Amino acid sequence: MNDNHAFKAVIFDIDGTLTPDVSWTALTRDLGGSVEKHLELYRGHRDGTIAYEISKGELLKLWQATGNANKDFFEKLFMSWPFREGAEELVDYLKSKGYLICLITGAVDLYAEVVAKRLGVAYFIPNARFVWDESGKLIDFDYDVKQGEKKLEQFLEFCREQNLNPSDCAVVGDGYNDVKLFSLTGNGIMVRSEGAHHLENIAWKKVEDLKEIMNFL
Ligand SMILES: [Mg+2]
Repeated sequence: MNDNHAFKAVIFDIDGTLTPDVSWTALTRDLGGSVEKHLELYRGHRDGTIAYEISKGELLKLWQATGNANKDFFEKLFMSWPFREGAEELVDYLKSKGYLICLITGAVDLYAEVVAKRLGVAYFIPNARFVWDESGKLIDFDYDVKQGEKKLEQFLEFCREQNLNPSDCAVVGDGYNDVKLFSLTGNGIMVRSEGAHHLENIAWKKVEDLKEIMNFL
């Protein structure tokens, strides 16, 4: 028995947890833009040396300059990206056990929507929002650099809407933006990846392989 836990919901991070890549930079890479330039802009904004509007505007220009920054192209990319091994099987298993499943991600809305659709998950809460013009060209986006704080707010809102206590939820994640959810619930399941050291000391369980989660949920 799950260490006497009776979970009602399982909350998943996407990037690094259900998929092997970070979607923001994978997007730039597959559009044909410079990932190095992208990271420069991201770090500048995170560290406060480049203002949000400028960093965002430059990234938008970087994407637009590839000629591929349109909804169709993005959707095709998001459909083609791989999951981590066992992701689909695990989600099917959790659904069959009756768990409510929600994706809470630092990624953009269209990506979260496509991943949720591919996995057959009803609830997804993204960090960022794309803005398209009538012809489907990307003309703007909103993004919150404080991903950890935002995920916590979104998680608490999900719990309120679904009448859940945070302790009713198991949280599956792989990095710094999952720290607050792991601490709050005490039910964090760490999936090993590059950023997992942030979670090493606060995880309830640690797995190498997603399918291991079926042993205790
Ligand atoms: Mg992650």
